[in-house]
Amino acid sequence: MGKPIHHSKSPLIHNTAFRHLGFDGVFVPLLVDDLPRFMDAFREHDFQGFSVTIPHKEAAHKAASSRDPVADQIGACNTLIRQADGSGYKGYNTDWIAAISAIERVLAAGSSDAAAATSSSSSSIEGQPSPLQGKTFLVVGAGGAGRALAFGAASRGATVLIANRNKARAEALAAAVPGGATVVDWEQLQAGAVSADVLANSTSVGMVPNVEETPVATAAVGNFKVVFDAVYTPRETRLLRDAAAAGCLLADGVAMFVGQAVEQLKLFTGTSQPPVQLMEDVVLGKVKVGSS
Ligand code: NAP
Repeated sequence: MGKPIHHSKSPLIHNTAFRHLGFDGVFVPLLVDDLPRFMDAFREHDFQGFSVTIPHKEAAHKAASSRDPVADQIGACNTLIRQADGSGYKGYNTDWIAAISAIERVLAAGSSDAAAATSSSSSSIEGQPSPLQGKTFLVVGAGGAGRALAFGAASRGATVLIANRNKARAEALAAAVPGGATVVDWEQLQAGAVSADVLANSTSVGMVPNVEETPVATAAVGNFKVVFDAVYTPRETRLLRDAAAAGCLLADGVAMFVGQAVEQLKLFTGTSQPPVQLMEDVVLGKVKVGSS
C-alpha cells in the first residue's frame, strides 16, 4: 500500500521469492488514498499481510491492533500481518531491523563485506548481545529513516547522537528517543569536531541526481569507525567513497533495502530460509523475471 506505488520493486521481489519458496500467495501493488478506509472496506478479503510505504506508515501504525515494541516506539509500521485469532493486524517496522542488522554485521565481522544482506540474515545475531551495545551512534538526519535508526540504535543499547540541518527537528527526535539522545551541531559535525563509532546517514543528500553531494564534510568522515548510508540510488554514494578512502567500515542502503524485504518475507511466509541472494539480485536488476 502506498501512494505513489507504480515505482515499487516490492511486488517483483516478493513474488519472485514466493515462487522460489513454492509459497501459495501473490503480492499485489495497491494504490491507496486513505489507509483506514481501505482496511475497513477490505476487512473480509483474503489479505494475509501488507507492506506499507510512504505516506501511510504512521496510519498503518494506528490501524494495527498490536505492534512490535520498537515499531510502537517509532510510531510507524511498514508491515502488517493478519493475526490468526481474528484480533486484526500486528504492525512491524522492518526498516530499522534491516539497517541496524547491516551495521551490526559489519561491527561484529570487522569487515564491510558483512554488511550485505547476503552475508547472513539478521537472525544469526538474535539472542546474542548486540555489537552496538555501549557504542556511540551518530544519526545524521531526523526524518522518517532517521527516526527508525535512532530508535533502533537505542533499542540495541547504543548511545545515540543526532545531527540535522534543521536543529529543532533533531531536538524533537532526541527528546522522543527512549533514554534520550544528544543533539550535535550541524556545523560542528562538518568541522570535524564530532566522532563516534557509527555514522548513519538518513538524509537524502547524495541521492540521484545530486550524486556529488555529501551530508558530512569529507575531512570529517575519518572520525567514524563504521559509516552507513541509507541512500541506495546510487549504491556507492559520495559519502561511502569518502569513508572507504578514510579507512572506515561500510554498510550501504541496498543492504537496508534488501534486508527490510527479507524480514517482511519471513513475516509473510514464516520461512526461516529466505532466498536473500535472489532477492538482492532482483533489486540490483541482475535477474530477469518473467511476468507469469
Ligand atoms: P524525510 O523524512 O523526508 O527526511 C529527509 C531528511 O533529509 C531530513 O533530516 C532533512 O533535513 C534531510 N535533508 C534533506 N535535504 C537536505 C540537505 N540538502 N542538507 C541537509 N539535510 C537534508 O526522508 P526519509 O524517508 O527519512 O528518507 C531519507 C533518505 O533515506 C532517502 O534518501 C531515502 O531514499 C532513504 N531511505 C532508504 C531506505 C532503504 O531501505 N535503504 C529506507 C528508507 C529511506 P531537514 O529536517 O533539515 O529538512
